[in-house]
Amino acid sequence: MLKGVHFLLTYKCTSRCDHCFVFGAPDAPGTFTLAQIRRALDDLTGLGTIEGVFFEGGEPFLFYPILLEGVSLAAQKGFKAGIVTNGYWATSPEDAEAWLAPLCQAGLSSLCVSDDPLHYGEQEPSPAQNALVAARALGVGVSELRTEPPSVGQGEGGEPAVTGGVMFRGRAAETLAPSLPTRPCGRFAECPHENLADPGRVHADAYGNVHLCQGLLMGNMWRTPFAELVAGYDPDAHPIVGPLLRGGPTALAEQYGVAHAVEYVDACQFCYEVRRALRDRFPECLGPPQVYGAPE
Ligand code: SF4
Repeated sequence: MLKGVHFLLTYKCTSRCDHCFVFGAPDAPGTFTLAQIRRALDDLTGLGTIEGVFFEGGEPFLFYPILLEGVSLAAQKGFKAGIVTNGYWATSPEDAEAWLAPLCQAGLSSLCVSDDPLHYGEQEPSPAQNALVAARALGVGVSELRTEPPSVGQGEGGEPAVTGGVMFRGRAAETLAPSLPTRPCGRFAECPHENLADPGRVHADAYGNVHLCQGLLMGNMWRTPFAELVAGYDPDAHPIVGPLLRGGPTALAEQYGVAHAVEYVDACQFCYEVRRALRDRFPECLGPPQVYGAPE
């Protein structure tokens, strides 16, 4: 059952991280307006199952007044409102409290902060740590999002295994994967990370795209009201989800005769590359173009 919606408030970001799923960047287009947030929240209320709404990106603090109003509107609707951020704005714990206090007054329930070497190298304390200190002082629920740079360890049977927690989709598939050890593509016969049959949360962007996984779309909430979109979602009949449920990226490539490499780093790299090849054929299911590294 769908319980959470993550608004990609903007694709714009302070950074251009190699491991970003959505190609976030300082010049990325695609930011929600307040009118769009109001409309989406109204639609979610009609659904009756949503418990929590998150604002993320990109970097949502880049559009602070819109973020603040979004949190307030979500809280007024009775949703738990959370934010996912890289914490770039937290130049000291005291300053971070100044950023967070109005959000708390608006009803912020939780703050998730990316604090890892991929964002901040060895910087101590990182801005993310300042943000966490301030959020705790204000009584906001906090969590850290920590992804280590990929490295090569030893897997089952002594074969090389990639560690670190990066999933190789989006920019990570293009920038990080090429230097890492691969495994035969036949091993990737299921989606290991998303519950595509019965999603518990989706991401929504300013173009109206409702993402089951980044770039894999349930539909468009500007064309079809959210409740209708969710009620009409038939995973087995979805042209991309159906094959993924039957046999992962391997089945997806086979179903549409997509030419592909014989080995990949992980299921997500295989899936991402097959989906990218199918974009022109299924534009309603695979987008927006910028999440596949193409100009909007
Ligand atoms: S296998 Fe595909 S659908 Fe599943 S998490 Fe990876 S990229 Fe997403």
